[in-house]
Amino acid sequence: MSNSDMEITEANIDSFGIEVILPEEGKTAPRCPHGPTLLFEKVDNGGNKGRRFYACSACRDRKDCGFFQWEDEKVSKARMLAREAEMLSKRPLFTQQECCSRFLQFASLPFIEKKFCEDCQILLLPAELSAHSAHRTTMVTTAQLRRPSILLRPLDNKKSNAQYLFTDRSAHFLLDTLAGLGYKKVLCVGTPRLQELIKLRNLEPMKSLLLDIDFRYAQFYSQDEFCHYNMFNHHFFGGEASRAVLDAFLTEADGEQVVMVADPPFGGLVKPLANSFALISQTWRKLRNSGDSNIDIPIIWIFPYFFEPRILECLPGLTMLDYQVDYDNHPLYKHGKTGRRQSPVRLFTNILPKHVVLPREEGYRFCSMCQRYVCSLNKHCTKCNLCPSKDGREWKHCSACGKCVKPSWSHCTSCGRCALPDHPCRQGDGGNGCFSCGSLEHQRKACPLRDMRRKNSFGSKAKSLGKKASHYLAKPGAKKKSEAANRAKKRAAHAL
Ligand code: SAH
Ligand code: ZN
Ligand code: ZN
Ligand code: ZN
Ligand code: ZN
Repeated sequence: MSNSDMEITEANIDSFGIEVILPEEGKTAPRCPHGPTLLFEKVDNGGNKGRRFYACSACRDRKDCGFFQWEDEKVSKARMLAREAEMLSKRPLFTQQECCSRFLQFASLPFIEKKFCEDCQILLLPAELSAHSAHRTTMVTTAQLRRPSILLRPLDNKKSNAQYLFTDRSAHFLLDTLAGLGYKKVLCVGTPRLQELIKLRNLEPMKSLLLDIDFRYAQFYSQDEFCHYNMFNHHFFGGEASRAVLDAFLTEADGEQVVMVADPPFGGLVKPLANSFALISQTWRKLRNSGDSNIDIPIIWIFPYFFEPRILECLPGLTMLDYQVDYDNHPLYKHGKTGRRQSPVRLFTNILPKHVVLPREEGYRFCSMCQRYVCSLNKHCTKCNLCPSKDGREWKHCSACGKCVKPSWSHCTSCGRCALPDHPCRQGDGGNGCFSCGSLEHQRKACPLRDMRRKNSFGSKAKSLGKKASHYLAKPGAKKKSEAANRAKKRAAHAL
């Protein structure tokens, strides 16, 4: 993950106000050193759309990639040339092929000649040592060579590319789970430590391919184990040859089932990520030749729980699981046993939830009603007919809202919904329409759905309507409708 990433919280996620417009067929976006740029549109509070512009897909900070162009802007020849020069200058020092032959040479060096430059983050060959003599260099053991995620300094660029590496607990859990489900190939999208572990453990015949924008990893892997890739625009820096590597990997020979695990930066650009993952799935589907156009590649997308609505909007076939993913080098989000803050990061997957067995010793249990493993404090609510907690705390049911809410919330009669006790109360501001149904035409007090909602929360109807009812009545806004539809689709997908 990255971006102001871990600083992105539930509270500010909705205030970004910038929409990504996915590329239309046949329309080409201008390129920056990170491949085709994305088309953005600023939307203000009132929903007014601003002028569209192209900006870098990978870097949220203009300092990292300053590309900017209005959609309708004419670009001068001089600027084009300057852009091209910049692209050339930003190319990696070595080609991937060069990296591979360097690695072979390096591996055959005697121990005392195996040196890594910490300043340049590269493995050094003997002839290069003098050029780096003023730099900090370290010896590299064979064991370290097999653990690049420890050898390399995690990128800590807050805005664009911070790297948060899995704890052993989380990485082994993921691998054990995938191995247990019989997957033989793991497509690691932005998960270098997972790839490393697969090779290290070597318990079962498992293959892996790492797709990552961090080219430093090319130094440690062969060409069919690493592709320099941008997951925000599905761009392969190595061109067709690199695409072919992915194609070969996605081709399942004799029951070698593929699964994909992605742990992207948390920048909020859910839409382009979902688009790239859908394209990967499409490629996989085509290569399978099965003719079944509904089936998707098994995927685990690792992301904070508060992105759930956005992710499900883009990929309705996914379900969020309660498992808390934690990271070695993130001080705030560690596993929540010892009173440290709990990690907000979860798994979103299209693998049947009941097949992803969450460890009992870490406090997870199986809910037979929900048919999935949940966190111990996540108590099943018979009124909502689900285990409602998203954040690992015990939620409580509010009959007025007709749904379960966070323990810290209480029902506010003027807002007509649950909120933090010190929320800015909306009574009388009149401008925001109805909090029950999202309509801008009336206030909540005059909502035609109000009576129906009462019945649903107390009456027997609520049960029979199950999830759908509670969802429809849960939050305001037009999104609800599509979410309910998403749920339905999701259930259909799971029925397969
Ligand atoms: N938890 C993972 C690492 C996640 S950090 C693990 O332990 O393996 C996010 C990862 O995504 C990093 O490896 C980073 O290099 C990669 N990344 C960041 N932006 C990317 C992009 N635009 N395209 C592809 N990979 C990207
Ligand atoms: Zn150096
Ligand atoms: Zn349940
Ligand atoms: Zn409830
Ligand atoms: Zn309430």
